[in-house]
Amino acid sequence: MKLVTCLYEGTQRVGVLTDNGVMFLPYPDMNALIEAGLPAVKGAVSEKTVPLADVTLLAPVPRPRQDVICLGMNYVDHAEESARYNGRAFSKEKPVSVYFSKRVSEAAAPDTEIPSHQGLVERLDYEAELAVIIGKTAKNVKPEEAGDYIFGYTVLNDMSSRDLQTGHMQWYFGKSLDGFTPMGPCILTADETAFPPALKISSRINGEPRQDSNTSLLIHTIPAILAELTQGMTLLPGTIIATGTPAGVGMGFEPPKFLHPGDVVECEIEKIGVLRNTIR
Ligand code: MG
Repeated sequence: MKLVTCLYEGTQRVGVLTDNGVMFLPYPDMNALIEAGLPAVKGAVSEKTVPLADVTLLAPVPRPRQDVICLGMNYVDHAEESARYNGRAFSKEKPVSVYFSKRVSEAAAPDTEIPSHQGLVERLDYEAELAVIIGKTAKNVKPEEAGDYIFGYTVLNDMSSRDLQTGHMQWYFGKSLDGFTPMGPCILTADETAFPPALKISSRINGEPRQDSNTSLLIHTIPAILAELTQGMTLLPGTIIATGTPAGVGMGFEPPKFLHPGDVVECEIEKIGVLRNTIR
């Protein structure tokens, strides 16, 4: 199933994307739907289906209950371009996993504008990422059981201010500005793809190809991430983990290709769809 959150006649609804439009489901929001679990959702009775043209899509989880957990440097080619940009040597050894978080008061919807924060941000960048959504309380998860804890997947653009990121010696501020977490267009439920997912991931700026990779190339895999984090941290249903971005972000080019007002950013993952936003 492809699950969406949308606005219909001024009210927020959740539903399933079908060939005929959006089939509404009887949950107040996506967090409640995720907590109910996939079997319950599959058995839920819809009151009606409306044409896609009659709704406005929102981010599938417009208000995550907690900060998004993010992986840094989780594709080899991106770790290389980052080291080059920051003037560091790139180590070929398998690195430790890098975790950070991203504050998201409200995730930006597909086809909306992302503020460029002019006056605060000069080096604005994009990062197409596969986001994993946890479906049930996870503690001490064994790698071979990790798939049981996944509710689904969405596309997340880990928007970043490279100047704030390096200027404050920590990524939190530079990645948590208003509008910096576009997400969508839907959640692909975990049963729709193999685990771990091997899906094409790409991005384009004004139609120009920038990133082009596959989620099978994660250095730290989803089972490894879940096993590692849940040794000491309980992950609740609805937790979102952004698994990192491949090479081809703006800072990876020489000279860098940062974003400017008017630029159209498209992040795409096979089977999930295209997440498109315009820089304001
Ligand atoms: Mg990232």
